[in-house]
Amino acid sequence: MSDTIAAVATAGGVGSVAIVRVSGEKAPAIAKALTRRDAFIPRHAHLCDLYDTAGELIDEAIVLWFKAPHSFTTEEVVEFQCHGGTVVAEKILDTVLAHGARLAEPGEFTRRAFLGGRIDLSEAEAIAKLIEAKSEDAAKILARQMKGELRRFVDEMRERLLRAVAFAEVTIDYAEEDLPPDIVDDLLRQLEEMEAQIGRIVASSERRRGLIEGFKVAIVGKPNVGKSSLLNAMLDYERAIVSDIAGTTRDTIEEQLRIGSHLVRIVDTAGIRESADTIEKIGIERSVRAIEESDIVVAMFDASRPWDTEDAKILALLERYKHDKEILVVLNKADLPRKLDTTTLEGWAPMTLDREKKGEKMIDALKARLDTMAEGDELMLVSARQIDAVKRAQAAIAQAKEPLGMGELEIFSYHLNEAIVAIASISKPVDFNDIMDKMFGEFCLGK
Ligand code: GDP
Repeated sequence: MSDTIAAVATAGGVGSVAIVRVSGEKAPAIAKALTRRDAFIPRHAHLCDLYDTAGELIDEAIVLWFKAPHSFTTEEVVEFQCHGGTVVAEKILDTVLAHGARLAEPGEFTRRAFLGGRIDLSEAEAIAKLIEAKSEDAAKILARQMKGELRRFVDEMRERLLRAVAFAEVTIDYAEEDLPPDIVDDLLRQLEEMEAQIGRIVASSERRRGLIEGFKVAIVGKPNVGKSSLLNAMLDYERAIVSDIAGTTRDTIEEQLRIGSHLVRIVDTAGIRESADTIEKIGIERSVRAIEESDIVVAMFDASRPWDTEDAKILALLERYKHDKEILVVLNKADLPRKLDTTTLEGWAPMTLDREKKGEKMIDALKARLDTMAEGDELMLVSARQIDAVKRAQAAIAQAKEPLGMGELEIFSYHLNEAIVAIASISKPVDFNDIMDKMFGEFCLGK
């Protein structure tokens, strides 16, 4: 039996209620000691006075007992819902510890829920991210994963792969020419279907990645086209600024704001300009990096100045990234006489901006683009770990096809087993100690 752990489960600060959570064998005895009651009814709210070890009254609290195994951790769990603020909860926690519990590590309750078989890794991951979710969209997706959407997908894939392995095991003793061709064709078709399904899920998860972490938008363009003015106009218009991230450097400024239901991080890059000046050079590198890290690129050109080599460099960058990034081309300073020859930009369907309603127009354009990017009912993988796992499975399935066609069933079966291990690592990895330490260590205390 593992030891009994305890922690304050609610966030610090002033609030009406705080919760102290205790999990482990000693939890019921600890509850009895603090409340001086003899018995509790499972899952019933009991209003009790709580006393410290010196017999002094700490608070009046609601005490809940979740009898093992019907609790989050599958162990004996007791929760004290006391008055908020930090002092009372800390005092209760101290008393619980004095009665033989120890302070929980971050994420230890969820780790126990996993070890107890109550949730799998994908569900634990969803819980961790749900706690930190920054948008409604993210919360919706994570809630679905927490309820087992990804687990069911993994189970189904594993089942299909296992059936294919079973076929190989049964027919492994056949001579190559005796393999029933229709069964081989059917298997090949199934593998191709799985590969395609994984491909769709990975593509749509990568496209919608911003739903979880916030979409990143980079504003690029040569110096003085009006990038900072655009960012400021957007911030002025959209009052719901979440926060400023990072500081203002000579080259980039990053701001967070909410557009519709999306969380957006906007980076205003330095002008893209090649020069011997090292600071300018750093600026170029930052711009390229900002594009690479972004989901949407806003590329700005100055309609009041003639086309020059710097504009051409930006256009070359757009060409380079057009298959990987969403790109919005903006012709700025349309209120001034037009000097820019825009024929080269026609294919990009540029939008024009002038001093009027600049922030509002840009936000509307971004919102339309973000809404389209966010579309899709496809299952969503929410972490790099999950995406990596399904990609490994996809690669192994691809490698299994050739040996199957050639009747080399042992090699076929070997690759399918690789695929099974990879896909299983999403929810119930074969060797999970490292993943466990890394994942649960990132949780907040009391979860
Ligand atoms: P950045 O170097 O790309 O960030 O450019 P800034 O935002 O600092 O703008 C450079 C100059 O262009 C400033 O003097 C702005 O006031 C001016 N500017 C920005 N947008 C417009 C616009 O739409 N019309 C006009 N006429 N001037 C603009």
